[in-house]
Amino acid sequence: MTQTTLCVAPTCGGDGDPRQAADGLLICLPCSNRLRRDLGAAPALHRWLGEHVMPGTSGGDRVSGGRVEAPVPARLDVLCMINDGAVAYRGDDDDQVGPPSIPSTLKNWTWLICEHRGLVYPATAGVAELAAFLARHVEWAASREWIVDFMEEIGALRRAAHGLAPWTVHVQELVGPCPGCDLRALIRTAGEEWIECDATVGGCGGLWSLAYYNDHVSEILKGKAIS
Ligand SMILES: [Zn+2]
Ligand SMILES: [Zn+2]
Repeated sequence: MTQTTLCVAPTCGGDGDPRQAADGLLICLPCSNRLRRDLGAAPALHRWLGEHVMPGTSGGDRVSGGRVEAPVPARLDVLCMINDGAVAYRGDDDDQVGPPSIPSTLKNWTWLICEHRGLVYPATAGVAELAAFLARHVEWAASREWIVDFMEEIGALRRAAHGLAPWTVHVQELVGPCPGCDLRALIRTAGEEWIECDATVGGCGGLWSLAYYNDHVSEILKGKAIS
Protein backbone atom coordinates (compact mmCIF):
# COMPACT_ATOMS: atom_id res chain seq x y z
CA MET A 1 0.00 0.00 0.00
CA THR A 2 1.47 3.33 -0.97
CA GLN A 3 0.87 6.13 1.41
CA THR A 4 1.13 9.78 0.53
CA THR A 5 1.71 12.12 3.41
CA LEU A 6 0.90 15.78 3.02
CA CYS A 7 2.89 18.36 4.96
CA VAL A 8 1.12 19.10 8.25
CA ALA A 9 2.37 22.70 8.56
CA PRO A 10 -0.73 24.95 8.57
CA THR A 11 0.78 27.55 6.24
CA CYS A 12 2.15 25.03 3.75
CA GLY A 13 1.44 25.83 0.11
CA GLY A 14 -0.02 29.28 0.75
CA ASP A 15 -3.57 29.39 -0.59
CA GLY A 16 -3.05 26.20 -2.60
CA ASP A 17 -2.77 22.59 -1.47
CA PRO A 18 -0.08 21.61 1.04
CA ARG A 19 3.05 20.10 -0.44
CA GLN A 20 4.09 16.47 -0.13
CA ALA A 21 5.91 15.80 3.13
CA ALA A 22 9.56 14.75 2.86
CA ASP A 23 10.29 11.01 3.12
CA GLY A 24 9.54 9.75 6.62
CA LEU A 25 8.77 13.25 7.90
CA LEU A 26 5.53 15.09 8.64
CA ILE A 27 6.58 18.31 6.89
CA CYS A 28 8.04 19.23 3.49
CA LEU A 29 11.50 20.58 2.72
CA PRO A 30 10.45 24.26 2.36
CA CYS A 31 8.66 24.09 5.73
CA SER A 32 11.69 22.56 7.46
CA ASN A 33 13.76 25.30 5.79
CA ARG A 34 11.39 27.82 7.37
CA LEU A 35 12.01 26.33 10.80
CA ARG A 36 15.79 26.45 10.24
CA ARG A 37 15.48 30.04 9.05
CA ASP A 38 13.46 31.08 12.11
CA LEU A 39 15.92 29.35 14.46
CA GLY A 40 18.88 30.90 12.66
CA ALA A 41 17.36 34.38 12.99
CA ALA A 42 16.81 34.12 16.77
CA PRO A 43 20.33 35.05 18.01
CA ALA A 44 20.61 38.17 15.83
CA LEU A 45 17.08 39.30 16.73
CA HIS A 46 17.82 38.73 20.41
CA ARG A 47 21.02 40.82 20.19
CA TRP A 48 19.33 43.53 18.19
CA LEU A 49 16.35 43.79 20.54
CA GLY A 50 18.82 44.04 23.42
CA GLU A 51 20.13 47.24 21.91
CA HIS A 52 16.62 48.68 21.66
CA VAL A 53 15.39 48.36 25.22
CA MET A 54 15.25 52.13 25.43
CA PRO A 55 12.39 53.52 23.41
CA GLY A 56 13.18 55.45 20.29
CA THR A 57 10.58 57.24 18.27
CA SER A 58 8.24 54.27 17.99
CA GLY A 59 5.63 53.59 20.64
CA GLY A 60 5.61 50.79 23.15
CA ASP A 61 4.99 50.05 26.77
CA ARG A 62 7.26 51.80 29.18
CA VAL A 63 8.29 51.07 32.70
CA SER A 64 9.96 53.41 35.13
CA GLY A 65 13.38 52.04 36.01
CA GLY A 66 14.63 54.30 38.78
CA ARG A 67 13.23 55.30 42.15
CA VAL A 68 15.38 58.21 43.24
CA GLU A 69 16.78 59.46 39.97
CA ALA A 70 14.61 60.53 37.06
CA PRO A 71 12.61 57.60 35.72
CA VAL A 72 14.33 55.72 32.93
CA PRO A 73 11.79 54.50 30.43
CA ALA A 74 12.36 51.07 28.97
CA ARG A 75 10.27 49.08 26.58
CA LEU A 76 8.50 46.36 28.52
CA ASP A 77 7.60 44.45 25.38
CA VAL A 78 11.24 44.34 24.29
CA LEU A 79 12.36 43.28 27.79
CA CYS A 80 9.75 40.54 27.66
CA MET A 81 11.30 39.06 24.55
CA ILE A 82 14.94 39.18 25.58
CA ASN A 83 14.63 37.92 29.16
CA ASP A 84 13.47 34.63 30.58
CA GLY A 85 9.73 34.81 30.66
CA ALA A 86 8.52 33.06 33.77
CA VAL A 87 5.68 35.52 34.17
CA ALA A 88 3.92 36.76 31.09
CA TYR A 89 3.48 40.49 31.06
CA ARG A 90 -0.12 41.63 30.85
CA GLY A 91 -1.38 44.89 29.43
CA ASP A 92 -4.50 46.80 30.43
CA ASP A 93 -6.68 44.17 28.85
CA ASP A 94 -6.45 40.94 30.86
CA ASP A 95 -6.39 38.75 27.79
CA GLN A 96 -3.51 40.60 26.29
CA VAL A 97 -0.22 38.94 27.13
CA GLY A 98 3.19 40.22 26.19
CA PRO A 99 5.31 38.88 23.36
CA PRO A 100 7.03 35.50 23.84
CA SER A 101 10.44 35.26 25.48
CA ILE A 102 13.19 34.21 23.03
CA PRO A 103 15.40 32.46 25.64
CA SER A 104 12.50 30.71 27.40
CA THR A 105 10.98 29.44 24.17
CA LEU A 106 14.34 28.04 23.02
CA LYS A 107 15.04 26.54 26.45
CA ASN A 108 11.64 24.80 26.61
CA TRP A 109 12.10 23.12 23.25
CA THR A 110 15.71 22.21 23.99
CA TRP A 111 14.61 20.64 27.25
CA LEU A 112 11.86 18.66 25.51
CA ILE A 113 14.21 17.35 22.82
CA CYS A 114 16.85 16.40 25.44
CA GLU A 115 14.19 14.50 27.40
CA HIS A 116 13.00 12.65 24.31
CA ARG A 117 16.46 11.85 23.01
CA GLY A 118 18.16 11.10 26.32
CA LEU A 119 20.59 14.00 25.96
CA VAL A 120 22.10 16.13 28.68
CA TYR A 121 20.37 19.49 28.83
CA PRO A 122 22.89 22.28 28.05
CA ALA A 123 22.15 24.26 31.21
CA THR A 124 24.61 27.08 30.54
CA ALA A 125 23.81 27.53 26.85
CA GLY A 126 22.93 31.02 25.63
CA VAL A 127 20.49 31.93 22.88
CA ALA A 128 22.96 31.30 20.04
CA GLU A 129 23.92 27.85 21.35
CA LEU A 130 20.30 26.89 22.01
CA ALA A 131 19.25 27.95 18.51
CA ALA A 132 22.15 25.97 17.02
CA PHE A 133 21.25 22.94 19.14
CA LEU A 134 17.63 23.07 17.98
CA ALA A 135 18.66 23.54 14.35
CA ARG A 136 20.66 20.29 14.57
CA HIS A 137 17.50 18.46 15.64
CA VAL A 138 15.08 19.90 13.07
CA GLU A 139 15.02 16.75 10.97
CA TRP A 140 14.34 14.52 13.96
CA ALA A 141 11.66 16.90 15.27
CA ALA A 142 10.03 16.90 11.83
CA SER A 143 8.80 13.36 12.42
CA ARG A 144 7.18 14.12 15.82
CA GLU A 145 3.52 14.96 16.17
CA TRP A 146 4.38 18.20 18.01
CA ILE A 147 6.32 19.57 15.03
CA VAL A 148 3.53 22.07 14.27
CA ASP A 149 3.70 23.55 17.80
CA PHE A 150 7.49 23.73 17.52
CA MET A 151 7.29 25.53 14.16
CA GLU A 152 4.60 27.93 15.34
CA GLU A 153 6.39 28.93 18.54
CA ILE A 154 9.72 29.47 16.81
CA GLY A 155 8.04 31.30 13.91
CA ALA A 156 6.20 33.53 16.40
CA LEU A 157 9.54 34.69 17.83
CA ARG A 158 10.70 36.04 14.49
CA ARG A 159 7.32 37.61 13.73
CA ALA A 160 7.05 39.23 17.17
CA ALA A 161 10.62 40.53 17.05
CA HIS A 162 10.10 42.05 13.61
CA GLY A 163 6.83 43.55 14.84
CA LEU A 164 8.41 45.15 17.91
CA ALA A 165 11.68 46.28 16.60
CA PRO A 166 12.18 49.97 16.09
CA TRP A 167 14.01 49.28 12.87
CA THR A 168 12.87 48.89 9.30
CA VAL A 169 13.07 45.38 7.98
CA HIS A 170 14.63 45.59 4.56
CA VAL A 171 13.12 43.17 2.10
CA GLN A 172 14.70 42.64 -1.29
CA GLU A 173 12.63 41.40 -4.23
CA LEU A 174 14.38 38.88 -6.44
CA VAL A 175 14.00 38.55 -10.18
CA GLY A 176 14.34 34.78 -10.50
CA PRO A 177 11.20 32.61 -10.52
CA CYS A 178 10.28 30.41 -7.53
CA PRO A 179 11.69 26.86 -7.74
CA GLY A 180 8.38 25.65 -6.30
CA CYS A 181 5.61 27.50 -8.17
CA ASP A 182 7.50 29.39 -10.90
CA LEU A 183 6.01 32.73 -9.87
CA ARG A 184 8.23 35.77 -9.58
CA ALA A 185 7.31 36.35 -5.96
CA LEU A 186 10.60 35.68 -4.21
CA ILE A 187 11.82 37.94 -1.43
CA ARG A 188 14.84 37.97 0.84
CA THR A 189 14.90 39.62 4.26
CA ALA A 190 18.16 41.50 4.76
CA GLY A 191 20.70 39.57 6.80
CA GLU A 192 19.13 36.19 6.14
CA GLU A 193 20.41 33.40 3.93
CA TRP A 194 16.93 32.30 2.89
CA ILE A 195 14.67 33.15 -0.01
CA GLU A 196 10.92 33.12 0.58
CA CYS A 197 8.10 32.87 -1.95
CA ASP A 198 5.76 35.65 -0.80
CA ALA A 199 2.31 34.18 -0.15
CA THR A 200 0.81 37.66 0.28
CA VAL A 201 1.21 38.25 -3.45
CA GLY A 202 0.00 34.82 -4.48
CA GLY A 203 3.27 32.90 -4.05
CA CYS A 204 3.41 29.37 -2.65
CA GLY A 205 5.06 30.37 0.65
CA GLY A 206 8.02 28.08 -0.10
CA LEU A 207 11.38 28.75 1.45
CA TRP A 208 14.73 28.03 -0.18
CA SER A 209 18.34 28.49 0.79
CA LEU A 210 20.22 31.21 -1.06
CA ALA A 211 22.55 28.55 -2.53
CA TYR A 212 19.58 26.55 -3.82
CA TYR A 213 18.08 29.66 -5.41
CA ASN A 214 21.38 30.60 -7.06
CA ASP A 215 21.71 27.08 -8.50
CA HIS A 216 18.14 27.29 -9.77
CA VAL A 217 18.79 30.59 -11.52
CA SER A 218 22.05 29.43 -13.11
CA GLU A 219 20.27 26.29 -14.37
CA ILE A 220 17.67 28.51 -16.05
CA LEU A 221 20.35 30.75 -17.54
CA LYS A 222 22.27 27.69 -18.77
CA GLY A 223 19.10 26.42 -20.46
CA LYS A 224 18.61 29.81 -22.14
CA ALA A 225 22.20 29.87 -23.37
CA ILE A 226 21.79 26.46 -25.03
CA SER A 227 18.47 27.13 -26.74
ZN1 LIG B 1 5.15 22.19 4.03
ZN1 LIG C 1 6.59 29.74 -4.96
